[in-house]
Amino acid sequence: MSDAAQNAAPADVNDLFDLTIIGAGPVGLFGTFYAGMRGMKVKLIDSLAELGGQLSALYPDKYIYDMAGFPKVVAKDLVRDLSAQALQFAPTVCLEEKVMTLTKTDEGFALGTDKGVTHRTKTVLITAGVGAFAPKKLEKAEFARFEGHGLHYVIPKLEIFKGRRVLVVGGGDSAVDWALALNEIASEVTLIHRRDSFRAHEDSVKKLHASTVRVMLFHELEDITGDGAVNGAVVYDNRSKEKTTLALDDVVVNFGFLANLGPIKTWGLNLEKISLVVNQQMETNIEGVMAAGDITTYPGKLKLIVTGVGEATMAVCTAKMRCDPKASYFPGHSSGNAAFGEGGH
Ligand SMILES: Cc1cc2nc3c(=O)[nH]c(=O)nc-3n(C[C@H](O)[C@H](O)[C@H](O)COP(=O)(O)OP(=O)(O)OC[C@H]3O[C@@H](n4cnc5c(N)ncnc54)[C@H](O)[C@@H]3O)c2cc1C
Repeated sequence: MSDAAQNAAPADVNDLFDLTIIGAGPVGLFGTFYAGMRGMKVKLIDSLAELGGQLSALYPDKYIYDMAGFPKVVAKDLVRDLSAQALQFAPTVCLEEKVMTLTKTDEGFALGTDKGVTHRTKTVLITAGVGAFAPKKLEKAEFARFEGHGLHYVIPKLEIFKGRRVLVVGGGDSAVDWALALNEIASEVTLIHRRDSFRAHEDSVKKLHASTVRVMLFHELEDITGDGAVNGAVVYDNRSKEKTTLALDDVVVNFGFLANLGPIKTWGLNLEKISLVVNQQMETNIEGVMAAGDITTYPGKLKLIVTGVGEATMAVCTAKMRCDPKASYFPGHSSGNAAFGEGGH
């Protein structure tokens, strides 16, 4: 459990909460903060051991460039600050607990978890992202022996690549960004991509071509070599079939992630592919169950942190009105909120 979570109030599982948030990614964390601002008794549950969702699990050391107010921010630093913001109103936080069932009750909902616990709540906010996520792996089963020995699908710490020779495989934003980040710390970085153009932000591609990263277009991975740990790879040009052998210490694969909503699919919620359909107040088809962040869809949806935290704010205000029908949807501005010791407007 992170330090931040340890500072949270202990979970009193028997209490009835105003709002229970499922998923402690950036969107759930901001929702937790906002519910605290609105004076709600809030609980946050996540199946992972750490707060932060995809940012902590998949790219803690990666820079995020499109966060309002930050020219750039390392993902783990953003999680640290979102957590501090979320925990200031002492929410109840339950980690390593996966919500398996959602059942309507007279007082609201009962949420059953894989720990055999039942959480009671008046309203629910689902910020479960893409559900349980796992990286797409290389097809050849024999490569699995290198996992943990130089073959990486996520990068938990950039510093482990210091002075090493790294091959990055992939053509999306992750591959390009990792190649650039690794180039600052590794001794050599090669990037192979099977096409001639990247599916990445134009500015990142420009930086890549201006960098010392060795870029090999139309190239694919044929083999990873090594006795125990990775010591090389064979790549080939998919037009000429010509092979190149690279001496390496690490191979970083970025083929994206497979998402699985898991138990959420069985809760009777309207789904469009793997996303929950919500209206403008972030309500699902089940009254009292809101959703925000990557898990949602509506016309114009963008799966970004900045939009997700805005959605969480709306979802919390909707939940507040359900818990307290006299409350207004718009609570006023935080800069004029007594909770921050500044009195009203
Ligand atoms: C490599 C990479 C780079 C990215 N870069 C950027 C970027 O630069 N800018 C940007 O805006 N976005 C970026 N994103 C996307 C961004 O991370 C997501 O938009 C964001 O994490 C969505 O937040 P969320 O809170 O909705 O969901 P998530 O971060 O996915 O968190 C959801 C949480 O819900 C939990 N959960 C799921 N199901 C259950 C359950 N049944 N019970 C309990 N817990 C559950 C999961 O464990 C997880 O912790 C990037 C994504 C990746 C993979």
